[in-house]
Amino acid sequence: MPKVIGLTGGIASGKSTVSELLTAHGFKVVDADVASRKAVAKGTEGLARVKAAFGEEAIDENGEMNRAYVGEVVFNHPEKRLELNEIVHPIVHDIMEAEKDEYLKAGYNVIMDIPLLFENELQDAVDEVWLVYTSESIQIDRLMERNNLSMEEAKARVYSQISIDKKRRMADHVIDNRDSKLELKQNLENLLLELGYIENQIDDASL
Ligand code: ATP
Repeated sequence: MPKVIGLTGGIASGKSTVSELLTAHGFKVVDADVASRKAVAKGTEGLARVKAAFGEEAIDENGEMNRAYVGEVVFNHPEKRLELNEIVHPIVHDIMEAEKDEYLKAGYNVIMDIPLLFENELQDAVDEVWLVYTSESIQIDRLMERNNLSMEEAKARVYSQISIDKKRRMADHVIDNRDSKLELKQNLENLLLELGYIENQIDDASL
């Protein structure tokens, strides 16, 4: 029976990097961030509802969601964040479930890449949870570098989530990403070997 694995971690802990490696091993990845963008893509019912709730300014001149504007509104008005979530979450859920069912029907093991899996209490929606682990200080460093943020900005984002050490205790399996990407690949492949998903490591150091 194919499995449904929830892949999570903290912000900038390495989920996308692990997803890419898992794709190379034949897993199919359903990505919550991609589904969130599809939910409010140009011309969708989802975007029409965002416009009804946030006004004309929520749509840019290309007919796409004006993320900067909507982001600013929800940042300053918590009740608007709830309203946005009430619109978007059910659509994201349906998109992800449909993708998952399609892959399962075709016999694939499925990775659900869900950054806020624990925050949204989605443990029961998957067979098991794998956590990409790194220390908070490495998270902050990688986030500063990837997103060009100051130390303060990076810390604010990291501390707004459940701490990675707490998440570590809630996960079924942990993939250590405190060292190089090559070591990450080895750690992941050790887990895949241990759980019987692969018989040999891929001999490819391209990552
Ligand atoms: P987010 O939740 O913010 O989307 P994520 O968990 O998907 O992040 P990645 O985007 O995979 O994290 O990694 C964050 C950044 O750190 C990226 O720029 C990535 O290239 C880099 N990175 C990931 N793992 C390592 C590593 N072992 N060594 C150095 N850099 C790394």
